[in-house]
Amino acid sequence: MSISENLNRIKSTLPAGVRLVAVSKMKPEADIQEAYNAGQRIFGESHAQELKQKHEDLPKDIEWHFIGHLQTNKIKYIISYISLIHSVDSLKLLVEINKEAAKHGVVVRCLLQFHIATEETKFGLTLDEARQLLESDEFRALQNVRICGVMGIGSLTDNTEQTNREFANLKQIFDTLKTDYFAGSDEFKEISMGMSGDYQLAIAHGSTLVRVGSSIFGQRVYDDKH
Ligand SMILES: *Cc1c(COP(=O)(O)O)cnc(C)c1O
Repeated sequence: MSISENLNRIKSTLPAGVRLVAVSKMKPEADIQEAYNAGQRIFGESHAQELKQKHEDLPKDIEWHFIGHLQTNKIKYIISYISLIHSVDSLKLLVEINKEAAKHGVVVRCLLQFHIATEETKFGLTLDEARQLLESDEFRALQNVRICGVMGIGSLTDNTEQTNREFANLKQIFDTLKTDYFAGSDEFKEISMGMSGDYQLAIAHGSTLVRVGSSIFGQRVYDDKH
């Protein structure tokens, strides 16, 4: 199947209100251009320098989302054009994003990433850590970042029940934060969950942004950079 066929097949299954982030990390620009020509406008990348190059080379109406672990010294490569950073997992990172955003006179939309999987290695906050972050004076002073929702990565497992539990947990976290901190905010509305293997389950649990890579572009071949 071609990239455009894959895209159309996936898009036809998405209910209204769920947007597709086409995860193009490690894929060549020609593949992104093909998806773009088929109508896709939101793309997700996880490596700041790779994204910088792609942003320079590709159409300027692409909405770029950053979905990977972001190192503070790499923020500068993406800050002026990034539409949404899905992967904020510390106050320190948020403070640095705010600092760079202020330099460029922009307000950057961000999601808080939560640790919902059983794997040790996945990044992300706990609900208590998020509460501490949101209640801190340092957070309240930030003018150039806006928290627009939550993100999580499910465990890599065939166990549907486990995945269901993890996605239900993230939805619960979203609802709790909405009630306790963002009741008056129209912008706190995104739940980024679901990848190629589990995006249908994620949608059933209220996902608004699914991040799908290999089902669109084929398997990735990993190299040293990633
Ligand atoms: C790579 C990646 C994806 C896409 O994974 P696929 O299984 O290829 O769909 C989604 N989310 C994050 C955070 C990723 O790093």
